[in-house]
Amino acid sequence: MKIGVLALQGDVREHIQSLSDCGVDALAVKTISEIQSISALVIPGGESTTIAKLARSFDLFDLISDRIKSGMPTYGSCAGMILLANNIKDAIEGQESFGGIDMVVRRNAFGRQIDSFETDIKFKGITEPKIRAVFIRAPWVESVGSEVEVLAEVTDPDGVNHPVAVRQGNLLATSFHPELTGDNRVHRYFVENICNQLATF
Ligand code: GLN
Repeated sequence: MKIGVLALQGDVREHIQSLSDCGVDALAVKTISEIQSISALVIPGGESTTIAKLARSFDLFDLISDRIKSGMPTYGSCAGMILLANNIKDAIEGQESFGGIDMVVRRNAFGRQIDSFETDIKFKGITEPKIRAVFIRAPWVESVGSEVEVLAEVTDPDGVNHPVAVRQGNLLATSFHPELTGDNRVHRYFVENICNQLATF
């Protein structure tokens, strides 16, 4: 199975490393033929507005969006989560997302209190120890549709819980950056519970 990491902007190399550590064939993708050739996609952390604009200008936007909607396993971290959301709050004017997950995501949500932070979280489907979650100008999920499973949450300084990892079918999104910690269990979850499940059909 070939897994592409969308290489328009963001921390592409770190995702390739995490996927390679899981024993899969991972490569940077940024052309139409490369995106047609992969069986799963990772959308890295970075800047969602920039990634969306570059995808438009390189004529990749509709291809990616269509492949996601037709079931290609896709994992987005941070900016990647925003790009998988059907609905974005605090978007810049005209900001587009590929969509696919029935959720409302708020950009830079923690930023009103704290810009960047790390914490240990429980992640449904991944056994303990907890996952070290690195948040960098991160979004959180404000609401989800009935098809969306919440896998992890954090409590904000006001004591309110917010989903920070969600799954809908073949789509996985996290507000945080597991690619930055050297712990590849979230990538392994994506590979084993989503990508490899498909290959068995
Ligand atoms: N705030 C960024 C955005 O809106 C996401 C930050 C990140 O990916 N670390 O795209």
